[in-house]
Amino acid sequence: MVDRFGREINYLRVSLTDHCNFRCIYCMPEDGAGFCSKEDTLSFDELRVVLEAAVTAGFTKFRLTGGEPLLAPRLLETISFLRGFKEVQDISLTTNGHLLAEKAQSLKKAGVNRINVSLDTLKPDRFQTIARRGDSTLVWKGIEASLGAGLDPVKINCVAMKGINDDEVVDFARLTLAHPLHVRFIELMPIAWNQDGVTFDDPLLKTGNGLISISRNKPGMLSAVEMKKLSITAAEIQQRIEDAFGPLLPASIPTNGPARTWQIAGSQGTIGFISQISNDLCADCNRLRLTTDGFLRPCLMSDGEADLRSMLRQGAGVRDIAESFRDVISVKPERHYLAEGQLPVTRTMSQIGG
Ligand code: SAM
Ligand code: SF4
Repeated sequence: MVDRFGREINYLRVSLTDHCNFRCIYCMPEDGAGFCSKEDTLSFDELRVVLEAAVTAGFTKFRLTGGEPLLAPRLLETISFLRGFKEVQDISLTTNGHLLAEKAQSLKKAGVNRINVSLDTLKPDRFQTIARRGDSTLVWKGIEASLGAGLDPVKINCVAMKGINDDEVVDFARLTLAHPLHVRFIELMPIAWNQDGVTFDDPLLKTGNGLISISRNKPGMLSAVEMKKLSITAAEIQQRIEDAFGPLLPASIPTNGPARTWQIAGSQGTIGFISQISNDLCADCNRLRLTTDGFLRPCLMSDGEADLRSMLRQGAGVRDIAESFRDVISVKPERHYLAEGQLPVTRTMSQIGG
């Protein structure tokens, strides 16, 4: 399926649950995170129809995410279901890794071929400041178990934040010397929780220069303004790594996503930068996103969604839903407008799946 801008769209990111066992400061409030009710969440039967429709419409790559996908009750069955289609070439997972040590083998067996583990700090006490729940030593065990299970590649997603963990970027880069790990630095995106009723045109959201001037997210997590202040560019991170290890060499791995990829000379792994805000990655975007409650989003940033759940509950089948996939592809925007101040206002990262 090719969209209006000539991009081939074949990759679906699926948020299997909006629940999470962490409360990362940039993603969820510490308390009072409201979750989708069971009734609003797609049932396993409904999810299967949507996934089959996606395959019918031409999707060949799937990433299971959340919230925390390892908390999703039918995760292994979902993976096996996808593996049952000969058209499906790639099944991956993005996880916080807390339950991964015990699950890596079964994920691999069910059909996951590669995995991204989010980890923002290698310091256990700092982990409590950022993720606020859980234990970073378990995440590291999950990373080791993934390597042991033969998941390949194993990537580490690290959101670098000024004054919070940016002093560790060199330590993260160093991991790629001794391990076949692929570290991806992700730029912090000012997606705030629950900006009730705020629209893009709300004058309170933008100043004349397009910067966000107010945020209305729940207390207990970073506000959009704070996220802007904490952001650190890919160029800045790269410079620090090059100061420590010398010039990075261009690298590539199969299954590369939007990251620009580099390597320290002689390393086993790679280093990449996913800079949604400072660089325009949209020209190569190949994906749609399915939310936990069954809405199909053409872009991480655009709130125009197709309500597949209502269609399913009114009797739609695989062919109808496949048609909706085509419709959403036909309206996929050329790019996002984050740098200009765009904010998705109806969804959180944990519902969309990052
Ligand atoms: N719970 C899983 C995890 O943390 O990997 C999957 C869902 S999480 C929403 C997916 C990714 O989104 C994670 O790598 C997380 O760091 C990233 N993320 C969440 N909020 C973000 C934000 N405001 N800016 C940038 N990345 C964010
Ligand atoms: Fe949970 Fe992932 Fe959000 Fe952290 S980033 S709170 S682990 S969903």
